[in-house]
Amino acid sequence: HPGTAPASTEGLSEYELGSNGTRRANAVLLMLVRNSELEGALRSVTQLEDRFNHLFGYPWVFLNEVPFTDEFKEKMSAAIAGPVSFGLIPKEDWYQPGWIDEEKAAASRAQMEANNVVYGGSVSYRNMCRFNSGFFYRHPLAQRYKWYWRVEPGVSFHCDTDYDPFLFMEEHDKVYGFTISLQEWPPTVPTLWDAVKEYIAANPQHVAPNNSMAFLSDDGGNSYNMCHFWSNFEIANMEFWRGEVYSKFFEHLESKGGFYYERWGDAPVHSIGAALFARKDQIHFFDDIGYQHPPFMHCPRLHSVRQERNCSCTQYQSFDNNMYSCLRKWEQVVRS
Ligand code: GDP
Ligand code: MN
Repeated sequence: HPGTAPASTEGLSEYELGSNGTRRANAVLLMLVRNSELEGALRSVTQLEDRFNHLFGYPWVFLNEVPFTDEFKEKMSAAIAGPVSFGLIPKEDWYQPGWIDEEKAAASRAQMEANNVVYGGSVSYRNMCRFNSGFFYRHPLAQRYKWYWRVEPGVSFHCDTDYDPFLFMEEHDKVYGFTISLQEWPPTVPTLWDAVKEYIAANPQHVAPNNSMAFLSDDGGNSYNMCHFWSNFEIANMEFWRGEVYSKFFEHLESKGGFYYERWGDAPVHSIGAALFARKDQIHFFDDIGYQHPPFMHCPRLHSVRQERNCSCTQYQSFDNNMYSCLRKWEQVVRS
């Protein structure tokens, strides 16, 4: 296959040639997934291949904290024309660290479970959120790439993407791309914003000029308004996560233990990182990518786009119109 990824970073240039002979970005389609989710994973992959990747042949990488089964690898490889790799996550990047006070963590899980917080009692969900917040981009199979498109099992892509969104990001100096934004459940992040404020106070030089603090806070940074980009879809630059600023920020959050003592999600953590440490013009709303992760869906707003891209979604069901969407706030911030 002409789109085969190189085996090492040696000789890897910024752009490679794609399967159609055109310039292509140093990018990967990335899915963290369990063996038990094979069916939903195949649906997501098949749709993205049909709607986008058959034109480009970008490589897929699948990650898991336990080895993928032969069935998973065989069926997935058969569904994808281009390069596919399956990676095991190092134990220390996944499991609850030994320095976490398990008694305190268990008490918090029990409390959240009693309060019916979604995944409130789950340790594996917390492992996943911490891994996605601070580790996935350092996995050996992800390390060689700059750009990634995060894909989850059971999602739908409702429109054709006939241009290269990675090259779009590259050429417009973007860092982070999203389709859906919404409000976090406050009980999952009671002290996250305190940790963020502490970090900013200690590292004011890290905060970007022309950032989007106004997306996160309605009172100039005093409190968090719970707005975040929904991270089950992301097209973003891993070098931003790997850089000194976000790395130090993640280490600070990690030191608080909030991934286990509370239930900090990778969505608010990435969103806060992107909104404070990148300029607001470096964050891109992919209005033209129709995307659904149940229970929410984004459908392109313009009728002409829906027609040109053969979209199979309807605008009136788009989450953009929902009162819990943060899109209006995002667009105010961009215009201000
Ligand atoms: P939700 O979208 O917040 O409801 O969470 P999901 O259950 O969809 O998990 C988010 C992503 O992490 C999905 O890609 C899942 O396949 C993956 N994931 C969640 N928990 C685990 C786990 O324990 N192991 C692995 N390998 N993947 C997981
Ligand atoms: Mn999900």
